[in-house]
Amino acid sequence: MSEPAIAAVSTPNAPGGIGIIRISGENALEIAEKVFVPVRNEKISASKGYRAYFGSAFAEGKKADEAVCLVYRAPHSYTGEDVAEINCHGGLYITNSVLRAVIAAGARPAQPGEFTKRAFLNGKLDLAESESVMALIGASGRQAANAALNTLEGKLSGEIDACAHAVAGVCASLSAWVDYPDEDIEEISASEMEQVFSDTKAKLETIIGRYDSGRAFTEGVETVIAGRPNVGKSTVMNLLTGYDRSIVTDVAGTTRDAVEEKVIIGDIVLKIADTAGIRETDDKVENIGVEIAKKRLERAELVIAVFDSAEELTQEDREIIALCRDKKKIALLNKSDLSRKITPEEISPFFDRTVTISARTGEGREDFENALAEILHCADFDSEAANLTGERQRDCCVRAVGHLGEAIEALHAGVTLDAVNVCADCAVDALLELTGKKASAAVVDEVFSRFCVGK
Ligand code: GDP
Repeated sequence: MSEPAIAAVSTPNAPGGIGIIRISGENALEIAEKVFVPVRNEKISASKGYRAYFGSAFAEGKKADEAVCLVYRAPHSYTGEDVAEINCHGGLYITNSVLRAVIAAGARPAQPGEFTKRAFLNGKLDLAESESVMALIGASGRQAANAALNTLEGKLSGEIDACAHAVAGVCASLSAWVDYPDEDIEEISASEMEQVFSDTKAKLETIIGRYDSGRAFTEGVETVIAGRPNVGKSTVMNLLTGYDRSIVTDVAGTTRDAVEEKVIIGDIVLKIADTAGIRETDDKVENIGVEIAKKRLERAELVIAVFDSAEELTQEDREIIALCRDKKKIALLNKSDLSRKITPEEISPFFDRTVTISARTGEGREDFENALAEILHCADFDSEAANLTGERQRDCCVRAVGHLGEAIEALHAGVTLDAVNVCADCAVDALLELTGKKASAAVVDEVFSRFCVGK
């Protein structure tokens, strides 16, 4: 099914080697033909598809650029519709002029994610696979990209469909049995039902667990670098980011704001706030920074607490230790290049890992990375397995697990079988919502609204 044509620039909104204007819809090729003229006298609208044409793109009656036009015929295209992609030089002025010409020729500007939404509506991708497209685009490292690609290729959907199918099979038997008690329908025993429910529940719990341990690779971990002034937090931050991000001085309190940065360590993504030194101060501006630091610390999942190992442990250090309670926490005994006044033994009881480091020389960085991977349980993540993409999918899984738990309880309690059926049915619905086979228009709209324009 083809809708009226939509168009957008599919390459980033920045100068680049190539800029692509994508047009998709029932009259996409006729529209492309009005803007793009091939050097040979070929008719784009008569193209069989899977062809590249060299020629010129025109805007406001004048040649705008030399270009290549790629043509795809429905249903063998990304969206499942006729698609033309005009590839011109990636200057913002050129791409925007050609886009305007395409719109003047009859296309409508595409909404965020509208190309992928059409692919979904045309059955090219399910909802989980569609979401993995954005995850693939946004992946910061190998593990995240690999997981997204596997989901795009249907690994997750295959497992979720199998789970839904198993539970739906029980529901079908239950319905038949409840609705036609007099018929000779093969009865499924309570223990068989329980087996299916608990096996499916265990599978889904594994998938949820994998998503949680993979968040360090995919979404990133909210992290705070905490420590009293001058222990070396900014220097640690600079060591991790690889360049001078914060002002590093010997004057206590020079880092006044929380500087936020996405830092990629191996494949792990840390969303780090290098906070102002946490300490009592009379300086108003610095005080604001201190408050921000405390708030960030409350929100953080991981705390990297920095100590100056060349100085005795102070009262302020002890307060920071107290603030790190209930978090995943690594202590960095910084300034290992100087003579040591704090021993790891003094600190380690309060932390998951304690690492000796010199932010100035980089010594100990590898130990820190290993500690990080351990504390975030990165080894539990398998990017080759079925992986969830994002909280929406996780929420569907969690709901399915909850309903399966209720179904098992209902079996144990010996309530009527239609009550068991209702719980199992809800579990199936949650799984069908995940893959989009039974998702409301509102859910679908919400998913695609998070996409970028042109995808
Ligand atoms: P912050 O206030 O905690 O952000 O601390 P800074 O990163 O600004 O560092 C304070 C001072 O300690 C600066 O003079 C740094 O150069 C110094 N410093 C930081 N890390 C090290 C280190 O590993 N060894 C030594 N010798 N000095 C360091």
